[in-house]
Amino acid sequence: MALKSFVLIITIFAVVTSISHASDPSPLQDFCVAINDPMAAVFVNGKFCKNPKIVTAEDFFRPGLNVAGDTSNPVGSAVTAVNVNNLAGLNTLGISFARIDYAPYGLNPPHTHPRASEILVVLEGTLYVGFVLSNPGPNMKNKLLTKILQPGDVFVFPIGLIHFQLNVGKTNAVAFAGLSSQNPGVITIANAVFGSDPPINDNLLAKAFQVDKKVVDYLQSQFWWDNSYRLV
Ligand code: MN
Repeated sequence: MALKSFVLIITIFAVVTSISHASDPSPLQDFCVAINDPMAAVFVNGKFCKNPKIVTAEDFFRPGLNVAGDTSNPVGSAVTAVNVNNLAGLNTLGISFARIDYAPYGLNPPHTHPRASEILVVLEGTLYVGFVLSNPGPNMKNKLLTKILQPGDVFVFPIGLIHFQLNVGKTNAVAFAGLSSQNPGVITIANAVFGSDPPINDNLLAKAFQVDKKVVDYLQSQFWWDNSYRLV
């Protein structure tokens, strides 16, 4: 084999390998149904695995996403998540799911998922959606990409990037989203920056946002609603 071909194959292998590890690690068995055992002394990347011999269909099942989340809150939206914490069979599979309900003019506020990309489909209503790219370089502005979505439209939010959805219609809106992690995580920007416990130093934030400290104190005194809706 010529050296060039060999180098090419190695390069392709390296690229494919890095892509396959871009999200959750691949499963090392058919499945690994989560089991909560605080007494167990071992730790794995994910949850503990139930013995496959005693697994049932129920371990791979989660009802309830036909039910709308309660959007009567300050942001007018509710995210109902199905992930490894309430669907144990998702453990190690690298995927999860969510239903998002929006009251008229309701907002799923700017947030990011540290471990997942998100692919969203609108079922009802009209959503103005968007995400912001990473810092492009010194003295350049972060690019914003937006789109108005109608029922049937699909949009993808790349992993780690700040994104949002706003219901711009006069009716309720409903969307469903797949996420590329069993446990995507959510960082709501306003909550994390202005609503942390303990608070981030207000002089620090005043400098970071280039505003008077009083503006920061006002923001920090607000109640920052978390729109993640627990499926019971
Ligand atoms: Mn999201």
